[in-house]
Amino acid sequence: MGRAIILMYHIVDTPRSEAEARYAITPERFSEHMGLIHNQNMPVIALGALPDWLAKHHDQTALVITLDDGTEDAYSQAFRILTEHGFPASFFVLPGLMGGENGWMQAEGFPARKMLSWEQAREMAAGGMDMGCHSMSHAKMATLSGADLLRETVEARDILEQQLGESVKHFAYPYGNFSDAVCDAVRNAGFAQGLSVRAGFNERDVNPFILRRVEVYGRDENWQLTQKLTYANATATRTYPMRYYLNRLTGGRLG
Ligand SMILES: [Zn+2]
Repeated sequence: MGRAIILMYHIVDTPRSEAEARYAITPERFSEHMGLIHNQNMPVIALGALPDWLAKHHDQTALVITLDDGTEDAYSQAFRILTEHGFPASFFVLPGLMGGENGWMQAEGFPARKMLSWEQAREMAAGGMDMGCHSMSHAKMATLSGADLLRETVEARDILEQQLGESVKHFAYPYGNFSDAVCDAVRNAGFAQGLSVRAGFNERDVNPFILRRVEVYGRDENWQLTQKLTYANATATRTYPMRYYLNRLTGGRLG
C-alpha cells in the first residue's frame, strides 16, 4: 500500500530569538532542505492527492510539505522557494489574524511577526499553493464547545473560502490539540482532512482527521531531515537508526 510522510514547517526566516529557533528555519536552510528532497527522488504530492496515493500501491513513499501559521515569510520566502523547486505545499493560515500580528506567540514571549495579507494569500493560491485552515485565531480546540467551536471551524472556513474564492479542504489543529469532538466539528464543517502533530507514516488505515505529521525544526541539518524522511520520526538523533533496528529485532520490547 502507498504511504506518505507529511512534513511540518513554521516560519521560513532568520530566527529573531533563541526560543524562536525551533520554529524558524533560515531561507537558506529551507532551500537546502528542498534541494535534498529533490535529490531523494521522493514524489512530492499535494495534500489533496493523499487519499488516492494511500489507496493505491506505490513503491515509493510520497512526501507532503505543510507550513503552519501563515506569517508573512510564507509569502516572501517559502512560496518563492517552493515555486523554484516546483513543489506543491499546504499553508495553514488564520483567517482571524490576516494582515495583523502573531499575538498568540507574543503572549508566550516570542518576537512579533506580521501575518500574511489576504492579497498575499490569494496570490499564493493562484500560484498553485493549497491554503488550509488553522482555526480562526490559533485556538486550543479541545477546550472549546458550542458556538466557539463553530466559529473556529465553520466560520473560519467560510471566511477563507470567501476571501480566496476557492474551497478550503484541510484543517491543521493548532498546538496539535484536538479531541473526538474537535475531529467531528472539523468534519461537519466540511473539511476533508485534519492534521495532527503526531509523528509517523501515513498509511491506508490512517484516520483522515488525525493525519500524522513530522515536525522539521529550524536547526535540523541535512542528516536530520534525511533521517526523518526515512523513519518519519519526530526528533532525529545519531542513535535513532540503531535503536529503530534493535527495536524491530526484539519485537518492540525496547519501546
Ligand atoms: Zn500553529
